[in-house]
Amino acid sequence: MSRVALVTGGSRGIGRAIAMELAGRGAAVAVNYARNSDAADEVVQAIQSGGGRAMAIGTDVGDAEAVTAMFSAVEEELGRVEVLVNNAGITRDDLMLRMSLEAWDDVIATNLRSVFLCSKAALRGMLRSKWGRIISLSSVSGIAGNPGQANYAASKAGIIGFSRSLAKEVGSRGITVNVVAPGFIATDMTAELGTDAADAAVEQISLGRLGRPDEIASAVGYLASEEASYITGQTLVVDGGLAL
Ligand code: NDP
Repeated sequence: MSRVALVTGGSRGIGRAIAMELAGRGAAVAVNYARNSDAADEVVQAIQSGGGRAMAIGTDVGDAEAVTAMFSAVEEELGRVEVLVNNAGITRDDLMLRMSLEAWDDVIATNLRSVFLCSKAALRGMLRSKWGRIISLSSVSGIAGNPGQANYAASKAGIIGFSRSLAKEVGSRGITVNVVAPGFIATDMTAELGTDAADAAVEQISLGRLGRPDEIASAVGYLASEEASYITGQTLVVDGGLAL
């Protein structure tokens, strides 16, 4: 795949695995991050030492002006973005009566507003290329709901409705829009929840273990590939059977 890809939140966890997967498939990869430039630089070096092309780009994906500048910088250094992976995401969990407006706004901005901003920015170039892949990370929480995650689940359910609508809008232009919804994957995000929460989750998972970031990345890699050219508007649940 000699394409240019942008992975938001590509510096750690699932995003890092997606950046490596797409680079392994031959894409030049822009690795976006919010604060942790060392981690993003490490991903770029790993890709470059394997013979690939990559760049790190620090941008808050909830910030409209910053997103416009990010797309210009990536186009200048690597070329027009043809594969966009909206992966950046945060949690600010709390029970509804205690949830602050700030926790609601932060999660919606980073998880959902970002998908609008980045997809819109990528779309112009994809329409010119008459080819594009937009893949966004939702969550089983966005499908089944989860106590303490009203903000997060709303953002992740929003991604599904957004993607179905956009898939219908741009399908005739060679652009597919899909969603991957992970279950419980071992990353920094879930490490925050502690071992008790992980043990409780494992009991609900048919495959009897947490997922690995590379198991999400391979699904994203497939949806980005030519082989997935007739799949659009879909949500692929990758959860080891958690939501069954
Ligand atoms: P991590 O917390 O491990 O990594 C988050 C990544 O997002 C980091 O690269 C971080 O950058 C980046 N990021 C956070 N905020 C912003 C921002 N405002 N602008 C740009 N980048 C930002 O998360 P995971 O790898 O666990 O999750 C990745 C995605 O998968 C998320 O959307 C998450 O909701 C989803 N998901 C995860 C599940 C899991 O079990 N882990 C389950 C279901 C869905 P920096 O390093 O600079 O902080």
